[in-house]
Amino acid sequence: MGLIVQKFGGTSVANTERLQNVARIITETYKAGNDVVAVLSAQGDTTDELLEKAAEINPRASKREMDMLLSTGEQVSISLCAMAIEALGFPVISLTGWQVGMKTNRTYGDARITRIDKDRLDSELSQHKIVLVAGFQGINRFDDVTTLGRGGSDTSAVALAAVLHADLCQIFTDVDGVYTADPRLVKDAKKLDEITYDEMLELATLGAQVLHNRSVEMAKKYAVNLEVLSSFTGNPGTKVKEVVKTMEKSHISGVAKDKNIARLALVGLSNQPGIAFKVFSLLAKEKINVDIILQSIGRDDTKDISFTVARSDLERAGALLEQRKEALGFKRLEVSDHVAKVSIVGAGMINSPGVAATMFEALYDAGININMISTSEIKVSVLVDESQADRAVQVIHSQFFREFGQQR
Ligand code: ADP
Ligand code: ASP
Ligand code: MG
Repeated sequence: MGLIVQKFGGTSVANTERLQNVARIITETYKAGNDVVAVLSAQGDTTDELLEKAAEINPRASKREMDMLLSTGEQVSISLCAMAIEALGFPVISLTGWQVGMKTNRTYGDARITRIDKDRLDSELSQHKIVLVAGFQGINRFDDVTTLGRGGSDTSAVALAAVLHADLCQIFTDVDGVYTADPRLVKDAKKLDEITYDEMLELATLGAQVLHNRSVEMAKKYAVNLEVLSSFTGNPGTKVKEVVKTMEKSHISGVAKDKNIARLALVGLSNQPGIAFKVFSLLAKEKINVDIILQSIGRDDTKDISFTVARSDLERAGALLEQRKEALGFKRLEVSDHVAKVSIVGAGMINSPGVAATMFEALYDAGININMISTSEIKVSVLVDESQADRAVQVIHSQFFREFGQQR
């Protein structure tokens, strides 16, 4: 018995039958003596459909109006689910982001939660109501609706769990938990019983969309007891926590793929000190995040620098660099958006030599060329051609889970 925050994703609330299923899960939890706050996403592909509708009317619509539009999907879900719960005879109330005091910064489309004024929540919970909250949305200091970025309902749920000191935050989705790779892509991917916040954060940041990466960051910061599980099967899910039992083993915990990436190469830069500073400070000023960076050894007084950015930033980054071609002194700019980043993640790899080599061997055996490499203590990422990315994930996964045995 306690306070439980539950979050249900788009597939879990896609139609009437599924909303009724969600209403059943919520009311079962309530009947067991818990207070329940449930965060819902928009139904099915609603958010994508709204994006398409907007693009038909104005492809350059302001971000404020986009947020006004996109936030409507979640409002439909919470009101319909509240009706389903009313029909089951339980006390319930649905609340939008602003009603629940979800304060964010001003950044439309990718807002950060700054504070939650929880008076309304406290008042509804003290009346023993089930509270349904629209995910993915908040309100900024101009009283405008903001959204938290794609997949942001996970972050709404974790933020509510943190501020309410919930005993548990359950993220219900369309798979049984966090797997060693996307189970839709890798048929023999294994479900993890538990995973550390740090590994989950890397996996989410590197493309495993099962959790919004900022939700994991927040869960770690506020020590939220987090669980990912299916709204369909009732199977035990994956616990995300600070320390897990198998942490000492040398292993990787998963393989992830990110297609939202593009590569730029500045060819024939002058081999002088300060060039990297000039290039990357220019991009930083425009808030363009740079990921993997590769600089070639200088020859004949010139060198090349390649780096990756989010695909959505490619056009802006390219235009910016072309504008400064003379000042930066490069010969040519090459860009490619047919690339993808494939990564392995594992807290154990720091003490386990040969992990990167194993990954590269798998790619070599499959004839997949590596364009760029980047490593950290708990991950190795490679940039490959987009058309080979799925296969890269599959061969890397099978190499590791054969090489190191079935670790978890
Ligand atoms: P929701 O709508 O419930 O938020 P998402 O589509 O955002 O669901 O996330 C769930 C999906 O994440 C799964 O259907 C799965 O295809 C994908 N996924 C990618 N990597 C992983 C992984 N390592 N483990 C589990 N699911 C993953
Ligand atoms: N509906 C939003 C999206 O599709 C938020 C979410 O589902 O988490 O990105
Ligand atoms: Mg999601």
